[in-house]
Amino acid sequence: MLIVPEALIAGLVTPEDAFSAIEACFAAMARGGAYNFPVVREALGEGRQYGFKSGLDRAGAMLGVKAGGYFPGNLAKGLINHQSSVLLFDPETGRPVALVGGNLLTALRTAAASAISIDRLARRDARVLGIVGAGHQAGFQLRAAARVRQFERVVAWNLHPEMLPKLAAVAAELGLPFEAVALEQVGESADVIITITSAPAASLMSAHVRAGTHLACMGTDTVGKQEVEPALLARATVFTDEVAQSINIGEAQHAVALGLLQADAVVPLGDVVIGAHPGRQSADEITLFDGTGVGLQDLAVAAMALRRARERGIGQEVEM
Ligand code: NAD
Repeated sequence: MLIVPEALIAGLVTPEDAFSAIEACFAAMARGGAYNFPVVREALGEGRQYGFKSGLDRAGAMLGVKAGGYFPGNLAKGLINHQSSVLLFDPETGRPVALVGGNLLTALRTAAASAISIDRLARRDARVLGIVGAGHQAGFQLRAAARVRQFERVVAWNLHPEMLPKLAAVAAELGLPFEAVALEQVGESADVIITITSAPAASLMSAHVRAGTHLACMGTDTVGKQEVEPALLARATVFTDEVAQSINIGEAQHAVALGLLQADAVVPLGDVVIGAHPGRQSADEITLFDGTGVGLQDLAVAAMALRRARERGIGQEVEM
């Protein structure tokens, strides 16, 4: 078994690699050869969440699990709040083949999913990117979004404004003007809105959002989290990485529970990727991607890191 530690990941998997791996992953899910197993997610108290995301991709010969979660006290300890590791197995024998650091990979695969949704669903003429959130994931989200549309500026709001300068620095690096605005102004000016917070209640309201907007709602991945008003999902065509996760632990959990959205109206983004769904159908349509984060995404990027580490002869081999 090869151990590929966190410190090696940045040199092994680029954002572009993650984009193509996640697009292939969504396509494999849509074709039916790849399955996510039910998510285990437990509250540990004091806001800590711990769980397992796992799956099997038959065609890609990937089997494995990501274990980890969200530990909000970490920032004060100089660590990021999201912590995870991926264990890959041989699907034929069940033997472990690799233990791969999952922190950077999680950020890359989450930003890739969001960017794929923007690439496939946002209007071609989208020029203003809105971001709600300014934590660890937000900078990755901004970088990935900037690769798929010609954004001319970024507007952002965060409950904790002192976190915004870090996001502004990413925008500056990308040469994009950045403005910290009131929450209502995000929706008033943005063509694409990414929400990436750990909020327990809706911040972005339906009335804030204009016709024709694409939203990538990326923060809600657990029962009880919520970023946008359920009425917004009732106005939108809702896409997701996986329908079961979307309606149980994703942003759609609230709209479905309130009877504002039918579970069978939620469209897998993979259907758009393989051409089974047309995606956006008019310039006025609101499209909303409910990105819950699936185990197969984690396996796809971890398998890529493993392949590259083997090719370069790096990592640490151990007998199991
Ligand atoms: P972080 O702890 O670095 O940042 C948290 C963000 O949420 C900050 O912007 C903070 O200001 C904001 N926030 C906290 N409490 C809030 C509240 N009550 N109302 C509004 N905003 C609030 O976290 P991160 O690593 O950037 O992750 C952000 C979220 O994304 C988390 O919920 C995490 O679980 C989720 N996430 C989802 C996926 C996925 O695949 N969908 C992957 C990784 C992380």
